[in-house]
Amino acid sequence: MKSAEIRDAFLNYFAGQGHTIVPSSSLVPGNDPTLLFTNAGMVQFKETFLGQESRPYNRAVSSQRCVRAGGKHNDLENVGYTARHHTFFEMLGNFSFGDYFKREAIQFAWTFLTDVLGLPEERLWVTVHISDDEAADIWLKEMGISPDRFSRLDEDNFWQMGDTGPCGPCSEIFYDHGEDVPGGPPGSDDDDLDRYIEIWNLVFMQYERTADGELHPLPKPSVDTGMGLERIAAVMQGVHSNYEIDLFQALLKAAGEIVGCDDLEEKSLRVIADHIRSCAFLIADGVMPSNEGRGFVLRRIIRRAVRHGHKLGHKEIFFHKLVAALAEQMGDAYPELRDKQQIIEKALRKEEEQFAKTLDKGMALLDDALNSLEGTEIPGKLVFTLHDTYGFPTDLTQDIARERGLALDMAGYEKEMEAQRERARAAGKFKQDYTEALDLEDETEFLGYESTESEGTVV
Ligand code: ATP
Ligand code: MG
Ligand code: MG
Ligand code: MG
Repeated sequence: MKSAEIRDAFLNYFAGQGHTIVPSSSLVPGNDPTLLFTNAGMVQFKETFLGQESRPYNRAVSSQRCVRAGGKHNDLENVGYTARHHTFFEMLGNFSFGDYFKREAIQFAWTFLTDVLGLPEERLWVTVHISDDEAADIWLKEMGISPDRFSRLDEDNFWQMGDTGPCGPCSEIFYDHGEDVPGGPPGSDDDDLDRYIEIWNLVFMQYERTADGELHPLPKPSVDTGMGLERIAAVMQGVHSNYEIDLFQALLKAAGEIVGCDDLEEKSLRVIADHIRSCAFLIADGVMPSNEGRGFVLRRIIRRAVRHGHKLGHKEIFFHKLVAALAEQMGDAYPELRDKQQIIEKALRKEEEQFAKTLDKGMALLDDALNSLEGTEIPGKLVFTLHDTYGFPTDLTQDIARERGLALDMAGYEKEMEAQRERARAAGKFKQDYTEALDLEDETEFLGYESTESEGTVV
């Protein structure tokens, strides 16, 4: 089954079960200043779960575009290292707003996987929250799941979108990719290796967590589920890695042609194929590269992608050229990609051109320094210079360090940063007196990436 067919099968199955099909919302959450990007299907329904908004339906189904590249759910560092993580992905989800609860949620999910998609039960593994006897009974006694492929876990089975907001215990379904892949079942020491890949999370929304950390019961127990389209596509297409599915193969091919690399399993190529999706979709949703908040996260992702192209030996700008291939692949499901193709290309191109001015020199400086490096830590002063003079965000230098088995001296970097802040403060004070005296317009002072690296109040 192609990815697009799986998306349709999911929406149709749940529509047949009385769910209203709701379009994906923007990656920029309109309703939530505490959240960096839409990171799950439930985000657009947050107020409905909290009982602050009512909708003309109490069952919904969606395929939501998500970005996890900052905040509580941040997978940026996982991209290229695991088979299952992207910065941008699509989350298929069914929702109940005070209508059905655990039993039906479990029945729907199981029927969809085993009947509609025809997956063999022996390949599926189920987890519930350690305290959730009710869900355990439904799985073991009513659904007849084998206790050999079932476990009760703690933190992994309590889901929350951020530090505050709706949350609750959850039940997850994993797919066993077989003994050829290293890794143990959920709850084992090596469960993070990719043999058992989590495909679907059924969240039993029962609480709201407030800023003081307290849990308050929701007005009506509800259901929020999320299944990664790329992960279930990998299962259905008989491949292990998400990067081997139809959609990614096409993107990887396009990327390979552009940067001159024909090994489609090359890590840097995968990173580029991943990053073009988050970058293009973020720009389509109105985020522009900048030094602040969401725009800064976007800038960091673009620069990482560009650096990976550089690593593959491609020194010219290339990233924007991938938008056409992406629009070709995903434009049917997301027409805005076609409508805004030129805007996206232009924004990426500008950003690439800007970074191209310093990337080469920054890399040369770093390579030189690393040739004579003693120990395994990149000095803070160098990390700072790369950031300050060459526009290398620290996560980009970190990415390079990781490839070479090195670490960053972050304490040394912070010290340099603090010294620069001091200088800026002193200069700012002087400038203020001066401009006041001359009645000049006050200029906003550039403090580098200072207040943005922590992403402000955004979680
Ligand atoms: P993992 O443990 O693999 O990081 P998760 O527990 O963080 O996943 P959830 O927050 O439960 O994921 O999200 C629901 C579903 O969305 C997951 O079961 C998975 O299918 C999908 N998903 C989550 N993160 C990603 C990602 N970064 N890339 C692709 N799919 C993802
Ligand atoms: Mg995760
Ligand atoms: Mg998980
Ligand atoms: Mg999960």
